[in-house]
Amino acid sequence: MKKTIRDYNLKNKKVLIRVDFNVPIQNGCIQDDTRIKASLPTISYAIENGAKVILLSHLGRIETEEDKSKYDLEPVALRLSELLNQKVIFVNETRGKLVEETVSHLESGQVLLLQNTRYEDLDGKKESKNDPELGSYWASLGELFINDAFGTSHRAHASNVGIASHLPNGIGFLMEKELTAFEPILNHPEHPFTVILGGSKVSDKIEVIENLVTKADQLLIGGGMAYTFLKASGLSIGKSLCDEEHLDFCQKLMKQYPDKIILPIDSVNAKEIKEETEINERFISDFGENEIGLDIGHNTVKLFSQYIKDSKTILWNGPVGMFELEPFSKGTEAICKLLKENDGLIVVGGGDTASAIEKLGYADFVTHISTGGGASLGLLEGKKLLGIEIINEK
Ligand code: AMP
Repeated sequence: MKKTIRDYNLKNKKVLIRVDFNVPIQNGCIQDDTRIKASLPTISYAIENGAKVILLSHLGRIETEEDKSKYDLEPVALRLSELLNQKVIFVNETRGKLVEETVSHLESGQVLLLQNTRYEDLDGKKESKNDPELGSYWASLGELFINDAFGTSHRAHASNVGIASHLPNGIGFLMEKELTAFEPILNHPEHPFTVILGGSKVSDKIEVIENLVTKADQLLIGGGMAYTFLKASGLSIGKSLCDEEHLDFCQKLMKQYPDKIILPIDSVNAKEIKEETEINERFISDFGENEIGLDIGHNTVKLFSQYIKDSKTILWNGPVGMFELEPFSKGTEAICKLLKENDGLIVVGGGDTASAIEKLGYADFVTHISTGGGASLGLLEGKKLLGIEIINEK
């Protein structure tokens, strides 16, 4: 068990908290503040317990000088002030005299946010490559480090692994919530355990499939990746997405686990990928030569529902259709409805699956929606996440 923020006395301590404020911003306006809200329990706890709070986060990627204004964290400081109902001090620097003086004047209960950690990437990718001097410098600003940024925990950056290697440390509440949600899925799922996999490419999910196929009772495969499996079973898939390089992998997997890999039996097809287009729902055996499969059909939904309805544990990663376009969102919405009717433990991976369930309005009906796409994939692949591994055990 990892140490958490609860394991430390925070009173009057300078506490560095790595949060994930990587929010969508356009022209200085925050489009979605979910990630800021998700960090509030840890920040509020630190304030209530008398810490001098120093927040670090990345935002976007900084490759050129022009990226700096696009990914300026100041609007986040303003939004955070509103959410906390107290002023958040913002320093438009990632290091230097102003940072150090502001830190030294911080009082118990005050909150400081430094500028985007990735500004340091302009000078030799110091943040993203975990430059030892940078990690040690940031660590010198505080007395305790709390990592609450699940979304970047699969990477070793100066602002997580770098700082953690110099200070007593622990995880925050968001990180704890994520790890608690994935723990039963990975270690002791209650059966029947169903995995629903979708998304575009087989190649992105190979290790997830290999890790979960041994734990789950069945893998229901939809989305773009299903067509590679269908082709590997000898079926025609028209012009649908196909990951030629992984046909072999799919064939072997289906041979080894014939009862576990459940594929679509029908598909919503079109000749063009656009909103206004003629669509045809067909059994896979009737696929038109010029058609692209863009969603699962309603017979597949019925087939999948037989597995989903009795499952005690469900993990969903990847939309089962091109849900961004309305005509191809019905399969993904049908999966949401089936999950709503299930009372078991339901964990939804981050990234596109999280956007889909939120966009379709079903977020409240599942146990947990992960805030980290890459990080949740890392966990599902059975990997240790570097930003968590470095944290002290209890
Ligand atoms: P991923 O990031 O691998 O989870 O993929 C998510 C993306 O897969 C979404 O943007 C979907 O639009 C896309 N997707 C789902 N089904 C299909 C499909 N049948 N053909 C092409 N793309 C799809």
